[in-house]
This record gives sequence, C-alpha cells and structure tokens, in this order.
Amino acid sequence: MIGVYPTPVERLEKLGMWVKRDDLTSPIYGGNKVRKLERLIPEALARGKKRIITVGAVGSHHVLATAIFAGRAGIAVEASVVPQPRTEHVVENVRADLAAGATLRPARTYVGAGISMALHMRPGTYLVPMGGSNVTGSLGYVDAAKELVAQIEAGELPCPDAIVVTVGSGGTAAGIVAGLAHAGVKATVIGVVVAAPVWFVRFWTRRLVRATYAAAGGKDPRALAAVPLELVTSQLGKGYGEPTDAARRALDVGASAGLHLDLTYTAKCFAGALECVQSARFKNVLYWHTLSSAPLAPLLEQAPSAVPPELERLLR
Ligand SMILES: *Cc1c(COP(=O)(O)O)cnc(C)c1O
Repeated sequence: MIGVYPTPVERLEKLGMWVKRDDLTSPIYGGNKVRKLERLIPEALARGKKRIITVGAVGSHHVLATAIFAGRAGIAVEASVVPQPRTEHVVENVRADLAAGATLRPARTYVGAGISMALHMRPGTYLVPMGGSNVTGSLGYVDAAKELVAQIEAGELPCPDAIVVTVGSGGTAAGIVAGLAHAGVKATVIGVVVAAPVWFVRFWTRRLVRATYAAAGGKDPRALAAVPLELVTSQLGKGYGEPTDAARRALDVGASAGLHLDLTYTAKCFAGALECVQSARFKNVLYWHTLSSAPLAPLLEQAPSAVPPELERLLR
C-alpha cells in the first residue's frame, strides 16, 4: 500500500456537516488520486509494465500523484498535458512533476494529447486515462466507501444521507456509489461537476458507476438504485479551472473550519456541500475532501526553479 488508511472522519460542528479527510491519504502527497493508484500501480506491475502513459491538464493532480508513486514503484511516467489557467498552484505542480522524473509532452487540446499518446505507445506501456478514472482506478474508491462504512459501523459518524464529492473525471464519485451499493448502504451521492463538457462528464461517470459496480461483484440493480447519484452543474461557472464567486466564498469558509481548499476542484464542491446543508433536504451531510494537504516543499527542493518554455505556453 502506498497510502495510510483509514483516513479520519471529522465533524465540522459550526458548519453542521461531516468531512472525510482524504487530503490525508499519504504524508508524501495526499488526495483522492492516491486511492486510485492503490489499484492502478499493482495492476501495471502484475502485467509486467514498466512505463505508464497518461493525460491531464498541465497542473493535474493525477499526473503528479502518478509521477510520485508510480515513479517510486520503478515505473517511468509520461504524460500528455493540455492548457489550464495559470495559478501558483499549477506552476508548483508542474515543477513537482519534473522533480519526480515525469516526462511531460505539451498538447494544445485533448484530441492532440490523444494523438501524442498513441504515437508514444509501445509494448510494455500501461495506459491510464484522465484522472486515473477507469474501472481499476475507480475500484480504489470502492475500497474507500467500504472504509467509510466500517467507520459508520464503528460509531465514528452517523450514516450520512448525502455524500458530496467533486466530479472531474468521475472515478471518485463512481467508486463511492458502487462501494456503498455493494455494502448495502443507502445514501444520495451529490457529485459537484467541475469539468466540461458536461454531457461527456455525465456519460463517462454514469458508465463508470455501472462498470465499477459489476467489477466489484455487484449484481443487484436495486442495491445500485438505492444509491442515487445526482450530478450538479451549478458550481461549474465558466468551466474547468475557472474560479467562481461561490467557490471563492467557500474557500474562506473552509479555511475558517481548518480545511485547505482549491478553486479548481474542492472549493466548488464545498460550495455545493454548504448549499446542501442550507437546503435542509438532508439530515447528515458528509463532504468528501479530495485535495492533498501534504506540503510540496520537500519535492520542490529538487525541482527546476521555473517552468520550461514549452510548458509555460500551456498556462493561460
Ligand atoms: C482529480 C480531483 C478530483 C476529481 O476526482 P475525479 O475522480 O477525477 O472525478 C477532485 N478533487 C481533487 C483535488 C482532484 O485532484
């Protein structure tokens, strides 16, 4: 195992919600991508693959987590990366990717990135999609949902009737839905969509729910129906990585409750979680935190001080 489990669950008393602290999945680099890699790296190794090719935005947390943890497992990591709005956080992630030894190939669009990935495929390469969100990666969140169920059974928290989680490439939400259904727990999963195009995110996420449930050995369509997934698009704003006012406000609320959020993913989701509590539609709301809170400083010590020009061009 590369992470440290179970991650804690905490009550944010003032905000009237619970939080699952997946920012703490690893002291080296935390967040949700670690749980997907718990499944992806062993599968790559079992298939004798020594090289991963993947894809993401230039400051992708998935690319960084893969660079760090697959790199430590002796797997070379190469990623085709596409433009993203420039923030200090994105710049640090790119520098940390390079420090971890990843090869980044700039592309202007996801179509271009796909072509570049295809051109670099050769035997011995393990292909990982955007966000680590294939069935294997999503099974990491089936494990996470079962971990939560064990915490509920141990009395650490009441059974939430709503679980609010960020939806980028969908694997996290899909794994949670499949895992809860598999464990026979009833809850509504509110997926706050932060990526576009929305039709594709919906299609991919719903497909992953069914495929991941089946891969986990689930056979009962009624159990799956007992865990409805509501995909909410009201926090997306102008698109992926584009901050909204609601997210800026949620960032401050989170900070005052001791949660470190980011404007691309978790502040948008947290805004959705706050709305969910205010709506009084649910009694027990759990916000599933997915952003690493591990300091990047140790990784950045060996990093280039600036982003190379061919990658700098991807920062709008
Ligand atoms: C990748 C990511 C997400 C989205 O998870 P998906 O499984 O891609 O939907 C949410 N939060 C953070 C911080 C992430 O890096």
